[in-house]
Amino acid sequence: MSGVLGAGMTSQRTRTRLIERLRAQGIADEPTLQAIGAVPRHLFVDEALASRAYEDTALPIGHGQTISQPYIVARMTALLRQTGSLAKVLEIGTGSGYQAAVLAHLAGHIYTVERVGALLRVARKRFASLNLQNIHCRHTDGSSGWAEAGPFDAIIVTAAAREVPEVWLGQLRENGRLVAPVGIASQALLLYRRHGGEISCEELEGVNFVPLLPGGVV
Ligand code: SAH
Repeated sequence: MSGVLGAGMTSQRTRTRLIERLRAQGIADEPTLQAIGAVPRHLFVDEALASRAYEDTALPIGHGQTISQPYIVARMTALLRQTGSLAKVLEIGTGSGYQAAVLAHLAGHIYTVERVGALLRVARKRFASLNLQNIHCRHTDGSSGWAEAGPFDAIIVTAAAREVPEVWLGQLRENGRLVAPVGIASQALLLYRRHGGEISCEELEGVNFVPLLPGGVV
């Protein structure tokens, strides 16, 4: 990597600075910070944007989509990690694959679905080149989850839904958690938990995600 980009922009030191910033923003879960430190975010964006990969900002990944801001990746990852098991995790919205790659360092198995085939093809190549063998992908509309692979200990949704469909909650195991951005004009991060057959929901901070869209595209 150092030839074209210059070692400075993509080095471990740059990643360490990102982690210091996340810590200063209140991310205190060390395993989450370590996972972020282990994933080369510059490999999840176009080469032309690689020099900006360790800024704490969302970046375009084509098809009108974005790779989430590191802060929100860290926040959602830490929330799920600190509230229970990550043996089997479902992600709705693979996008660049970055969030799945971070989770792959903390979870048993990640099942991730993406509606845009072209994005998923690139993400799969990234998983293979980083030897992340515990990520399983599917090209599909994630509105109905991934019933055959479930139930899941945790579900992470990385595109904003109008509301959380019952079918997602139905794919949560006992003590399972689901974190999702919900809303249209303004979005909030919601944390659902399944406990003794009951589902609870807690509203966290305001967020800004691309919308969940229906149907698959090539
Ligand atoms: N987790 C991603 C964030 C990508 S942005 C990352 O780390 O890069 C959200 C992604 O959700 C986009 O790639 C978008 O195509 C996808 N998406 C939107 N609606 C979807 C749906 N119904 N099913 C599956 N994926 C969806």
